[in-house]
This record gives sequence, structure tokens and C-alpha cells, in this order.
Amino acid sequence: MTEQEKKQLQERIIAVQERIARAAERAGRDPQEITLVAASKMNDAEHVRAAIAAGIRVCGENRVQELVEKYEQNAYEGADLQFIGTLQTNKVKYLIGKVSLIQSVGSVHLGEAIAKEAAKRGVRQDILLEVNIGREPAKSGLMPEELDDAIARLSEKDALHIRGLMAIPPIADEITKNSGYFNEMHQVFVDNRAKKYDNVNMDYLSMGMTNDFETAIACGANMVRIGTAIFGARPYQIVSP
Ligand SMILES: *Cc1c(COP(=O)(O)O)cnc(C)c1O
Repeated sequence: MTEQEKKQLQERIIAVQERIARAAERAGRDPQEITLVAASKMNDAEHVRAAIAAGIRVCGENRVQELVEKYEQNAYEGADLQFIGTLQTNKVKYLIGKVSLIQSVGSVHLGEAIAKEAAKRGVRQDILLEVNIGREPAKSGLMPEELDDAIARLSEKDALHIRGLMAIPPIADEITKNSGYFNEMHQVFVDNRAKKYDNVNMDYLSMGMTNDFETAIACGANMVRIGTAIFGARPYQIVSP
């Protein structure tokens, strides 16, 4: 990376942090309570290191192989590493011991696989349960009405610690359209937090990406996952003229 590129990355990060702070203030909340997760997929170790040098404290990856490669290149030193993507049970073993949080647990089956692997390693793995708030058939995640049962079953596992909920709403035509899903998600979060399950701490509501994170914060998100606004467009997002 050139110095110019590093400077640009730093400016983007500052701009995102400021937008988060403003959105929190508008919602009457403390900006400090919003966790920014930099979604670093398709950005190499050098870019990740530069982002951390510029103030990023949490990185989120969505592919296991890419995470492991960059992890081995010490890309995430100085930051917390989380997993935010679709996860197959046979890949769980590559994440345990590396990530502080697995955000995308969309089934009891996956949660059980994580518990088994974490127990084997003698660690307790923090997870978020992913909710399919748009009820999209092609998308993973638990339906809101399946949460009770999933929490009851997974909270029994000593090697798991449920820390909250995560959602990726359907791609909206207009930015404001997602506020319906975000509000619904917040209600689900508040309802489940009030149930005070043992071994569960409903701390995080992870929702909002580059195109809609301010709306998500307005609706109650306290964790946002942002890629494009930090790192610029990923190669497949650039449409040539
Ligand atoms: C890539 C990704 C993001 C960030 O998306 P942007 O639109 O680039 O901000 C957030 N969450 C998940 C699960 C992702 O894979």
C-alpha cells in the first residue's frame, strides 16, 4: 500500500466512526456503546493491518479459509477477530481458538457443533444467534419463533455463551425500507433479553452494513458490520463502464 492509500483508508475509518457517533447521538445513545466490526473480506493482510493501525478494534471475516490465511500472516494483531459468514459444521474446528465471537449461528445443529469443538479445546465460545428476520427461504438463520427453543437448547452447553442476536435483512430497494426489519429485530432482541435465561447475556444486537448502518443504529443496533465504507468497493462490486 502506498502512503496515499493508507491515508485514504484512515480517512474512511474516521468518517465511518463519526457517522456512527452521530447516528448514536441522534438516537439519544452513547456512541461508545456501538461496536464497529470492520468486515475485511477480500482485503489482504496488509490492508487489515493498516485498518488496525488506523483505529479498527474488531475485524469480521466471512470465509473460513480466508480468515485462516490472514490469521497465519498475523493480519489481526491488535484487534479482536470475529466470524460473521455462513459456517459449515466441518469448518468449525478452524475457528475455535482464533475468534472471540461467532456471529452467524443460524441453527441449533451448528451451535451444537461449535459447543462440541469448544469443549474439546477447553474453551467457552461466545456466539450470536442469527435470525432470518426477512423469512427468506434461501437464507440461513432461525425464524423468530424458533429462538426460544434454540436458546433453551444451546444455553445448556457449558462451552457456549450466547451473547446476542445478529441479522442480515433482505436487500432493500430504498434505505428506509429496512427500518421495518430492524425494528422487528430490536423487538425480538428486547423480548429475549427480558427472559433472562441462565448462561445467556443478550448484550449485542448486530445489524447494519454500509448501506444501512445509520438506520440500524436508529432502530437499536449496538454492533454494525461495515466493509465497503471502510475498505472501498470489493472487486466484484466494481462495475466497469
Ligand atoms: C461483507 C459483509 C458485511 C459488510 O458489507 P458492506 O456492505 O460492504 O458494508 C456485513 N456483514 C456480513 C455478514 C458480510 O459478509
